[in-house]
Amino acid sequence: MFAFRDRLGRVEVAFTDRYGGVSEGPWSSLNLGTSNGDEPARVVHNFAALAHGLGVDVHRVARMSQVQGRHVEFLDDVPDGIPVADALVTRTPTLTLLVRAADCAPVVLADPDAGVVAVAHAGRQGMLLGIVPATIATLRDRGATRIRGWLGPRICGGCYEVPEALRNEVTAAVPEAWAVTSAGTPGLDIAAGIRAQLRAESVDIVDVADSMSACTYENADLFSYRRQGQQSGRFGATVRIAA
Ligand SMILES: [Zn+2]
Repeated sequence: MFAFRDRLGRVEVAFTDRYGGVSEGPWSSLNLGTSNGDEPARVVHNFAALAHGLGVDVHRVARMSQVQGRHVEFLDDVPDGIPVADALVTRTPTLTLLVRAADCAPVVLADPDAGVVAVAHAGRQGMLLGIVPATIATLRDRGATRIRGWLGPRICGGCYEVPEALRNEVTAAVPEAWAVTSAGTPGLDIAAGIRAQLRAESVDIVDVADSMSACTYENADLFSYRRQGQQSGRFGATVRIAA
C-alpha cells in the first residue's frame, strides 16, 4: 500500500503504490483516480482501504479535482463537494489532504512547528505555471516559516520524451528541467525543475528517489499514464497533522 512514509514532528506523510485495493486490470489494485474509467464502487473501497492503512476516518480525507492549473485551495475542514485545484493547504489537525498522480509529481509541503501542511500536483504544466511556489506562498501566508518538501514518484527525465519545441518552451522558463531520454531524444526532468523551485524558496527537500525506484514509468509497483495509457490508475500522496 505504501511506497514511502515519513514523519516530521506531528506531520505524517505517505505515498501510496498500486497494491492493497480491489480494482482490477489497468487499475489494479489501489487506484485512487475517479475519472479514469475504473468502477466507482471499487474506488470507494480503495479510499476506505487507504484511510484504514493511514489510521484515519475516510470522511476526513480531502481531495481535489486536479486540472494542471495553479489554484491553491485553503481548507478549514472537509469541503462540501470537491474543489477544483492543484494544491490543498490546511492548518486543521486530523484533516488528511490527498493528491493523486500517475507520472506528474505529487509534492507534500509542511511546517510542523507552524502547524500547516499542503499537497500539490506538479506535472509539466504545473511546474511551468509554478503551482509549487504558489503553494509555498499560501503556506507562508498561513504562518509557515521553515518548510520541508517531499518530492514523490514521477516519470524521470530518461523516460519522459517530448518534442524538441516543447522542451525548448518549458526550459526557457525552468532550465533545470532540460533532459535527454535514454533513447537520446529530447526529454524533460520534472523532478529537477521542481527541486530547483523548492531550492529557490529555501525549502528543505526530501526526494523519495533517494530511497526507492521513483520513476513511475520504470517501476511497475506504481501507476504510469505513459506506460499504461488513458486507463492507468492513480496513486496518491497524503499529509496530515496528527492530533
Ligand atoms: Zn524513468
